[in-house]
Amino acid sequence: MLEIGLVMLQGSRQAHVDAIGRASERMGFEVNIREIRTPDDLLESTLQALILPGGESTTMRKVGGQGGTGVLEQIYRELREKPNFPVLATCAGAILLADPQDGGPPIIKATVDRNAWGRQIDSFLGRVSVNDQDEHVECAFIRAPRFTSAREECTIAKVGDEPVGVRENNLIALTFHPELSTSTIFHEMLLEAAASNGNRVKA
Ligand code: GLN
Repeated sequence: MLEIGLVMLQGSRQAHVDAIGRASERMGFEVNIREIRTPDDLLESTLQALILPGGESTTMRKVGGQGGTGVLEQIYRELREKPNFPVLATCAGAILLADPQDGGPPIIKATVDRNAWGRQIDSFLGRVSVNDQDEHVECAFIRAPRFTSAREECTIAKVGDEPVGVRENNLIALTFHPELSTSTIFHEMLLEAAASNGNRVKA
């Protein structure tokens, strides 16, 4: 049984639950999703991976940051202690990992520029290539950020030549919403990392 934490701040959380359900069925894993709302939810749990959904990073910081529940600071602390811990961070989730704003170093080294594709009306479906394969996955970019720096060797997803997904150790950060696509390839990556990784947030 894999225990996957789902950070309940904003974003299409049910779509992530559905995607994990489909991915785990394909892979033959039993998965339990644990909703993470407070620092205690993290401390008390034995998670093997975490999903940090998108939304609006400013709002997520207000709700989950120091002035709110503090769950984000707890997540950043845990991830700095366990750099190999599997995380799937999508869109605003990727922004938070690149720029945690808690006084500590970034969780991922890639840097992002918020809303860099334009306004909400400029949101689009992008043809995402995964690990330079010929096949493409159609994914939603919703007022998405853009990577301003991403190491080639960490890039796992591209639209054309542009990096839109990176993987640093088991930290998977995507500027788009894989949970809204029919493919479960990125959720499968997370489960694969969780299954092959003995790391837990708390033993
Ligand atoms: N524009 C949002 C932000 O800056 C991210 C959008 C998303 O997560 N879909 O936080």
